Amino acid sequence: MSKLSNSKKIILSEEDIPKQWYNIQADLPHPLEPAFNPKTGKIATKEDLCKIFPEEIVEQEVSTERWIDIPDQVRDAYKIWRPSPLVRATNLEKFLDTPAKIYFKNEGVSPSGSHKSNSAIAQVYYNKKAGTKRIATETGAGQWGSALAMACKMFGIECVVYMVKVSFQQKPYRKSLMQVYGANVFASPSMQTEAGRKVLEKDPDCTGSLGIAISEAIEDVLTHKNAKYSLGSVLNHVAMHQTVIGLEAKKQLEVIDEYPDIVIACLGGGSNFSGLAFPFIMDKINGTHKDLRAIAVEPSACPKLSKGVYAYDYGDLSGFTPAFKMYTLGHTFMPSGIHAGGLRYHGASPLVSAIVKEKLAESVVVKQREVFEAAVTFARCEGILPAPESSHAIRVAINEALKAKEEGKSKTILFNLSGHGHFDLTAYEQYLAGKIQDCNYSEEEVQKALKDLPKVNL
Ligand SMILES: *Cc1c(COP(=O)(O)O)cnc(C)c1O
Repeated sequence: MSKLSNSKKIILSEEDIPKQWYNIQADLPHPLEPAFNPKTGKIATKEDLCKIFPEEIVEQEVSTERWIDIPDQVRDAYKIWRPSPLVRATNLEKFLDTPAKIYFKNEGVSPSGSHKSNSAIAQVYYNKKAGTKRIATETGAGQWGSALAMACKMFGIECVVYMVKVSFQQKPYRKSLMQVYGANVFASPSMQTEAGRKVLEKDPDCTGSLGIAISEAIEDVLTHKNAKYSLGSVLNHVAMHQTVIGLEAKKQLEVIDEYPDIVIACLGGGSNFSGLAFPFIMDKINGTHKDLRAIAVEPSACPKLSKGVYAYDYGDLSGFTPAFKMYTLGHTFMPSGIHAGGLRYHGASPLVSAIVKEKLAESVVVKQREVFEAAVTFARCEGILPAPESSHAIRVAINEALKAKEEGKSKTILFNLSGHGHFDLTAYEQYLAGKIQDCNYSEEEVQKALKDLPKVNL
């Protein structure tokens, strides 16, 4: 055991891939408030959701069963890269000269490069089972599109991705990766849909937005036979699929007789935070680890948990989805174009929002420059180039390790390295050239966006 506790990384075997996902809905102090359908003025029904998602996914969305079996075919697909390594950042510890132990779970080893494959594979599997022939989605920065494209190829489903035009132009290699996996990628706004054509008629040079891309993807689903939609974060079933991260990490830490004092993950829509933290928050709720701290890290350009309101809001920018109770800056809020594209989402998933509301987790806001500084430090110590999104978690892990040093306390810190940064080198180039700036959200813009919240009377 003592030998193991000095080891650099803990790698489990395939049998250790979890056999069940953890559904935190079973353990919430208060049940989630229901989703609301603004079109009917009533609570959203399963039938509403079944128009765009397969039934088994909808069942998972509302389930309060604590453990949900992971189908064998999904576990088999996970075997390509799971269990992912748990690594001790010994070089970073030395560099910081901290008594804290820093561990990270490396989700960047997935073929698509991020944690998003954990849910993409599960979602595509259930679609295949339900007879879906075509899945349409939108992608901003491209990580979700890549994960879904790969999963669709594995299960033999056609994949159509509407990629925000500005990313399509700025991140051509993400697009190429999706095409290698066989996906059909359109720069959005496109000529493929009525929604896209309308925008282009008015503004032929429009560089697109996630809102437009979502509208195009949903129109695609509604106008094609056997087509369904798929979402890469935010929703309860996506958060649940990601819990393989935390469940594995727990097992890995058990091998070396460790348990974290602090778990840290960045927050876009909330899925990677849920994935790492929920299995630990379970222990906080049931009282076996009351003192555990779970920290969600937000960019100063888009701090929904820290500065948003807890209210019903749409999941997307165009108001297509039902409204969910969540911390939000308003679905029409447009965060500035920070390099961590995956964190530019207006709301925090209903589950993460509820957990924060119950004070079972906390949020911290960091700025872009200090994030890149942490990213470069991490790369120089541990060799891994982190995604700008994941680097938000690294920043806070470093801050906590420095605090432990000041206090002369040994702390065990665990963070999620949600993805690698190999497609983000333009951003690193700009950082090294001193061209990266801090972006703060505008209070005024948020106030304006909050006026567009849907009216809900339940
Ligand atoms: C999408 C993404 C995120 C943020 O999304 P969540 O839904 O909050 O998990 C974080 N890191 C990477 C690498 C991503 O691709």
